[in-house]
Amino acid sequence: MKKPFTKIIATLGPATSSKERIYELVKAGANVFRLNFSHGTLEGHKQNFDYIRQVEKELNQPIGVIADMQGPKLRVGQFKNGSVTLKEGASFRLDMDPQLGDETRVTLPHQEIFDAIEEGTYLLLNDGNIRLRVTEVGAHHANTLVITGGVLSDHKGVNVPGVTLPINALTEKDLVDLEYALNMGADWIALSFVQRPEDLIMAREKIKDRAWIITKVEKPAALKNLKEIVDLSDAIMVARGDLGVESPIEDLPSLQKHIVGLCRTQGKPVIIATQMLESMIHNPTPTRAEVSDVATAVYDGVDCVMLSGETAVGEFPVLTVSMMRKIIAHTEEDPLYKKQMEIISLPPDHLVASAITSSIPNMARVLDKAACVVTYSISGATTLRVARERTGIPILSLTTDEKVMHRCTLVWGVTPIITQTVSLILDIAPIALEYGKAKEMIKPGDQIIITAGIPFAQKGATNIIHILTVE
Ligand code: PEP
Repeated sequence: MKKPFTKIIATLGPATSSKERIYELVKAGANVFRLNFSHGTLEGHKQNFDYIRQVEKELNQPIGVIADMQGPKLRVGQFKNGSVTLKEGASFRLDMDPQLGDETRVTLPHQEIFDAIEEGTYLLLNDGNIRLRVTEVGAHHANTLVITGGVLSDHKGVNVPGVTLPINALTEKDLVDLEYALNMGADWIALSFVQRPEDLIMAREKIKDRAWIITKVEKPAALKNLKEIVDLSDAIMVARGDLGVESPIEDLPSLQKHIVGLCRTQGKPVIIATQMLESMIHNPTPTRAEVSDVATAVYDGVDCVMLSGETAVGEFPVLTVSMMRKIIAHTEEDPLYKKQMEIISLPPDHLVASAITSSIPNMARVLDKAACVVTYSISGATTLRVARERTGIPILSLTTDEKVMHRCTLVWGVTPIITQTVSLILDIAPIALEYGKAKEMIKPGDQIIITAGIPFAQKGATNIIHILTVE
């Protein structure tokens, strides 16, 4: 089967925390694994990480690892009887008093919320199922009116849509998890609760170049600064779970299209996450709507589609990945897909690197036997630039840096390979031919387009094209 351009990220959890399962998931089509630090133990994540690297060795196929940080979770305290039912039209108080709650009040142990809200602010509780409107705010409390009622139980989550909270994206727990994940060797760090560009600047100071950063776009506050946030990130995840709670749910499709379009223009990998094949947690087949959702993301030209509960706790994790791969493969065979890939016209940025990479789709059209683009990319920058063009032929990415090889596993159309250092552009050709044939990406008569930047060690210096015919 032809290798799909769109990559699959599978979240590991109790259903898939064994070497055998990870092996099966990779064989079924998973390219990258997500370790969700909101759940599990540090030792459990390390064990899975070691399994992934063992499977990678056995299959001789690079596999990426994302360590997903929990971020701050805002929650109410506990109730005398474990839960209460809030009735529409009733008053309900949130305060800092640690006593157990009842139908009239509950603890909200987050002073930052009381500092940031005002009369008229909406608070969403329990995944957005309960809606409260603030009627009065004091120094350490808020009185609210129940707009949408329901059952509220101990420790349920609280969202404050539309308000930028004075809270860092990385909590004390995250800082411990982050160091652990980086020492373990995670390729990507996913950041939750990003609201402002400063959140990313602070995270980058801690992470440095030890991993690339995925920003999970889940807060409306982040949407206000989206261009700057995309600029400061190495990739973006459209985290539809939280985003769908914080924004009106009917806004999700347009937000998704807008974010994907911006990332594609800026050449940043983009991931669509949450509820892609949700019903497969308990069923062996997806709903029609889910199939259509995955295909829509593929038609939009995203880099990755992600599975969460489906592979973490689902009854059919391997089947779900195969199904996702099937949907991707069929969608990418549609001639309309190729057309869709050409639709985003990138604004000229007057850079030599862009002049080179933006000419590749045209070269592929003129050379009807162009079978792959080869990048020799020390930092990964040239590979990302080429992927941005969505040329419609696979990208063989040669790099000398194992970290870059792993990071590129989630980039559209890229087969990353680790290789030795070269000093001349002509030295790349034999390496490209060897790996291209080994990976069954080229055959005699095909043409390959090689691109690189000279001097080789300089980031983003793409300035050379070399075309050759495979003998
Ligand atoms: C999401 O909100 O869609 C998401 C991926 O984040 P998490 O699973 O951490 O809630």
